[in-house]
Amino acid sequence: MVQTISSVGLPQEQPKVWHTLETATAIAYLETDLEKGLSSVEAKRRLTDFGANELTAKKGKPWWLKFLLQFNQPLLIILLGAGLVKAISGSFVNAGVIWGVTTTNAIIGFIQESKAESAIAALAKAITTETTVIRDGKKLRVQSRELVPGDLVMLASGDKVPADLRLVQVRNLQVDESALTGESVAVEKNTQILKADTPLAERKNMAYAGGFVTFGQAMGIVVATGNATETGRISQLMERHTDLSTPLTRKFDKFSQSWLRVVLGLATLTFVVGLSYRDLQDALEAAVTLTVSAIPEGLPAVVTVTLAIGVSRMAQRHAIIRKLPAVETLGSATVVCSDKTGTLTENQMTVQAIYAGGHQYEVTGVGYAPEGEILVNDQPISLNSEKGLQECLIAGLLCNDSHLEKKNGKWVVVGDPTEGALITSAKKAGFSQSALANEMPRLDGIPFESEFQYMATLHETPRGKIIYVKGSAEAILKRCTLLLSTDGQPHPIDCVETFRQTTIEREVNIMARQGLRVLALAKKSVSNDQITVDHGDIDTGLIFLGLQGMIDPPRESATKAVQACQEAGIQVKMITGDHAVTAQAIARRMGINKNGSVLAFTGAELAQMDKQELAHVAEEGVVFARVAPEQKLRLVEALQSKGEIVAMTGDGVNDAPALKQADIGIAMGGAGTEVAKEAADMLLTDDNFASIEAAVEEGRAVYKNLLKAIYFILPVNGGESMTILLSTLLSRELPILSLQVLWLNMLNSITMTVPLAFEPKAKNVMKQPPRHPNEPLLSSSRMKRILAISLFNWIVIFGVFEYIEYTTGNLNLARTMAINSLIAGRIFYLLSISQLIPNLIAKMDGTIEENVDIPAIGFGIVGAIILQIIFAHVPLINQVFETAPLNFQQWLFCLAVGSPMIIWAAVVNKIDPPN
Ligand code: ADP
Ligand code: MG
Repeated sequence: MVQTISSVGLPQEQPKVWHTLETATAIAYLETDLEKGLSSVEAKRRLTDFGANELTAKKGKPWWLKFLLQFNQPLLIILLGAGLVKAISGSFVNAGVIWGVTTTNAIIGFIQESKAESAIAALAKAITTETTVIRDGKKLRVQSRELVPGDLVMLASGDKVPADLRLVQVRNLQVDESALTGESVAVEKNTQILKADTPLAERKNMAYAGGFVTFGQAMGIVVATGNATETGRISQLMERHTDLSTPLTRKFDKFSQSWLRVVLGLATLTFVVGLSYRDLQDALEAAVTLTVSAIPEGLPAVVTVTLAIGVSRMAQRHAIIRKLPAVETLGSATVVCSDKTGTLTENQMTVQAIYAGGHQYEVTGVGYAPEGEILVNDQPISLNSEKGLQECLIAGLLCNDSHLEKKNGKWVVVGDPTEGALITSAKKAGFSQSALANEMPRLDGIPFESEFQYMATLHETPRGKIIYVKGSAEAILKRCTLLLSTDGQPHPIDCVETFRQTTIEREVNIMARQGLRVLALAKKSVSNDQITVDHGDIDTGLIFLGLQGMIDPPRESATKAVQACQEAGIQVKMITGDHAVTAQAIARRMGINKNGSVLAFTGAELAQMDKQELAHVAEEGVVFARVAPEQKLRLVEALQSKGEIVAMTGDGVNDAPALKQADIGIAMGGAGTEVAKEAADMLLTDDNFASIEAAVEEGRAVYKNLLKAIYFILPVNGGESMTILLSTLLSRELPILSLQVLWLNMLNSITMTVPLAFEPKAKNVMKQPPRHPNEPLLSSSRMKRILAISLFNWIVIFGVFEYIEYTTGNLNLARTMAINSLIAGRIFYLLSISQLIPNLIAKMDGTIEENVDIPAIGFGIVGAIILQIIFAHVPLINQVFETAPLNFQQWLFCLAVGSPMIIWAAVVNKIDPPN
């Protein structure tokens, strides 16, 4: 009996000898079929047997460890220590409260961090990979996780190898297996059997999960999935780590460390000064209070939440962040380099003009529906007399990997839109794709790749074997030596150069100037023993058949987004493989320009330039056409050398280096290859340029909200520490005690600051120039703001405390009122930097349509007021925090003292506008 997968069992229990087997043996063992693949029923059954094709995620750190790590911050350690000092000196209540508040802070931080992490992880999981398989004899796309042993998988350049495969058919396949073998050079694959002891890196007839196809195509049979793959064996468990750090958070960390040193120095000073005219207990209290007051405890949590909210807002607008730092970088982008086809345009192609047999034809109709006519001089044609046109349409139909389908009454293209348009134009003349394919079956083909700009197919026809070729005019014309004229007969092109330059290029230009994408078509007869087609076969001697020009309308939303970007001081550049004139026409139509002009450069021109020239041209140019992927990398570098922060889109295999080099690499979620997605910082789920603009807008808003949180929190720390420092130096009673500071800095700050993370965008975010990338977090105007508000806070705390103490002699009351006045001022300050009031006003006068999001800030303020009522009126809290209840007049007094903040903040907003 033959050993088979069902008689022997799971392939992972088999010795790993796939590379030593003949393909036939492997196929027999896996009970599959080289033509038809598995049946879908069998695939389903195997999926339950073998499980999904995914690596078991490694369990992250256990929750309790994550929780404990929250305490691993210098400040919290100091606090815990301070609590310990209190405990030793006998004030257990104080110690308990310090520990309690610290723990509460850790819990809040823990919850917020886990939420942020799971939100980001969920987004990452939403990005799935698909694979082309053959099942039931049909090609289809399935999720890679649904692959099972025995599945017949097709690989093309740009794909991620989805499982371990024994290759059965290979066409110039190169696979980058560096993730598995550490070998950075892509490996050429073949199907020959190998000795058993061949090391993994040299098993050329295998492709292992995790590799990337950098070139060519192949077909392979899945031999192992999920944890049974070689990658699975090595890593066994995949690290699913979500890193929440970004340049900004790292800047924060660094800043906190140096700040901590300053604070500890000041605390020591306070302690020493305090000691000179107080007892140890009081001196210690002053030192601890100063430490606690000077450090913005609530800030790290707010930063994390703000970033996480930014990520989810971007996701709602079709931009999925793969690398968190991109959230920040996006806000400072100064140049967006975008692909044309599909990102700026609809990628809905319709042939509108044909040039064949010396005639110009017009094609009517829109979309892929085969409804429309081909006209010559406004008259319908009679196809039989238009031999040249016939050939041109046939070439477009045969040299084609796509087909049309009617879905919900609408014709859609399955495959490449460029090819869909060619099918539609041929159908309008009455050709049928299937009939033609039967009459002239395809024997072999070279698929389209941007790099070569053409595609070729070999056909068996009643008139012998013919290669059909289609591609860009440049790529095709230079290979043509004959021309099909009106009578349908090939004629040598006498003076090839002049003819191309005069006649055909003129026709190309006529089409391109209207923004049409031009495809040239050609054919070549070959001898009957030819069974494959290679690049060399079509190097020369082609017969030129004609041109087809297709419209690809700009996306309306992209056109608006281009305007928005340019108004926001962000340059938009179009990078395309298409013809320069076509690209320029589309750019003009969309309003893409630099200082009013639309300079276009071609890849060939760029290749001639030295670094300096390139940098200049990259800055001044708007359209870069016929650009090869490696030139994208040079363009990014050139722009960066001019100090630009570059966002760059890409979808092909060879775009990865440019995507990595760009400050923000953007891949297409729909049309992009896996290689590009892996290299990118961000994915667009709808492939639309408008989503880039949306992400930039959100990125700017996130940064604004972060800043708001910073300059909302810091002045309170400033006011508190000034108070304590001065009171100690002046040898006054402390207006505010360490526990009260904790209350303020942790509970109050978090209630009032977290809502800032939910702040809606200001209307003018996209009306300002990009933020300078080296702009310090605290610019001088922001420092002035923080100092001014700190000063106000100091006056309030110090003044109210001294006044109430003087008039009532009640220390607890004086402290409670000082804090309540501070918070009253703080509420006004929050309103002054929030978007709430400007948005309400805008809503009332009708400048904005959306509903104004009151809740977040509103809840924050209400929450803060409730906390203060508890602070003053709950007996237990009175005892623990040494506070006292207020009467109604006293509450009003606090409100009145806080209210000058309205004017104060308005002045500050003039110096340093918050939005
Ligand atoms: P882009 O996607 O930037 O518009 P491409 O690299 O896809 O540019 O295409 C470059 C040129 O190659 C096009 O202008 C067109 O002439 C030609 N071309 C595009 N798609 C195909 C295809 N499927 N087959 C043959 N030629 C193509
Ligand atoms: Mg393309």
